[in-house]
Amino acid sequence: MKEFKLAQPKTLVQTSAFLGLNQGKTALMAGGTDLLDEIKNETISPEVVIDLTTIPDLDTIRQEKETIKIGALTRVVDLAQNTKIQEYYPGLVQAALSLATPQLRNVGTVGGNLCQRPRCWYYRDPHVNCRKKGGSRCFAIQGKNKYHAIFGGGMCHIVFPSDLAPALISLDARAVIATGIGEKTVPLAEFYILPRQNVRQENILGADEVLKEIHLPLPKSGAKSTYLKLKERGTWDFAVVSVAASGEVSNGAFQGIRIVCGGVAPIPWRLTKAESIIEGKLASEGMLRQAVQEELKETRPLSENGYKLDLLEVAVYRAVMALV
Ligand SMILES: Cc1cc2nc3c(=O)[nH]c(=O)nc-3n(C[C@H](O)[C@H](O)[C@H](O)COP(=O)(O)OP(=O)(O)OC[C@H]3O[C@@H](n4cnc5c(N)ncnc54)[C@H](O)[C@@H]3O)c2cc1C
Repeated sequence: MKEFKLAQPKTLVQTSAFLGLNQGKTALMAGGTDLLDEIKNETISPEVVIDLTTIPDLDTIRQEKETIKIGALTRVVDLAQNTKIQEYYPGLVQAALSLATPQLRNVGTVGGNLCQRPRCWYYRDPHVNCRKKGGSRCFAIQGKNKYHAIFGGGMCHIVFPSDLAPALISLDARAVIATGIGEKTVPLAEFYILPRQNVRQENILGADEVLKEIHLPLPKSGAKSTYLKLKERGTWDFAVVSVAASGEVSNGAFQGIRIVCGGVAPIPWRLTKAESIIEGKLASEGMLRQAVQEELKETRPLSENGYKLDLLEVAVYRAVMALV
């Protein structure tokens, strides 16, 4: 591991200014559970690590009118244990409790979870200069690709590993970004970008920008949410396929269903075709499986990850039926 200096700013304005002046030399750190792994592996070697935990008031969850506001520095354990989150968004609690281990949830934050880097073994290997690190090839295309993307890959086949991102997007979350000159708010779904937009990063954050907060609208009366994570191991693991589903069932028919998947694409992947097939229909296994099969026509599995198609079909069926 290469030595680095530690900066401990007191405000987001200071942080943005520092980031702007030291582009390419810095890394933001929240809980550090992902970042320090990257530094130890020498996947990245920043000259300065900026500790966000010294900035006050970024770790709170509060309700303002019809919105629940979650600070980026909120620990995953505090998200899962918050009574309003438990009351309004059970799917988000399931996602939070599915991720990593109790120790990691005690340290890891919501912002760090949403901005974590991919787990692709080629990206994480300091000896491999893949496209994500500025090289000219995605080694997964002809290499070992069991855990890689079936949707949206193309030039880089990472999957986005976050459990919270699909759950939050299924709940219509918005991301508040602190910029050098103030703040901007975008739908969390638009926070993420595909490799063809910028293969070097997974989100839209500019060089001097920091994720500040997540905003969630209060759910409609009768709306439900759920999160289903399929892992290779019974103990802690990243999702090979995960499905966040939310919406209502009225007189037996689905209404406003959102389905967002993890572990299958470089960004949280929304199944909009399946959603529109399901809309207004009565729950049935045949209809739900057919809806997913329409989506699967878009997939481009690699040599070792075709098994994810079957997993996705079953996971979507089970997650959506859990709303009934
Ligand atoms: C053994 C192990 C198992 C894991 N299992 C899972 C799992 O099952 N599911 C899962 O989703 N994750 C998992 N993780 C990943 C990670 O630990 C968690 O996602 C955690 O929530 C990350 O939060 P953090 O605060 O520690 O992030 P950090 O490590 O501090 O940061 C992660 C990344 O986000 C950036 N960042 C952090 N905060 C901000 C911000 N506010 N604005 C902009 N950028 C920011 C950092 O620069 C860094 O690149 C696992 C990690 C390990 C080591």
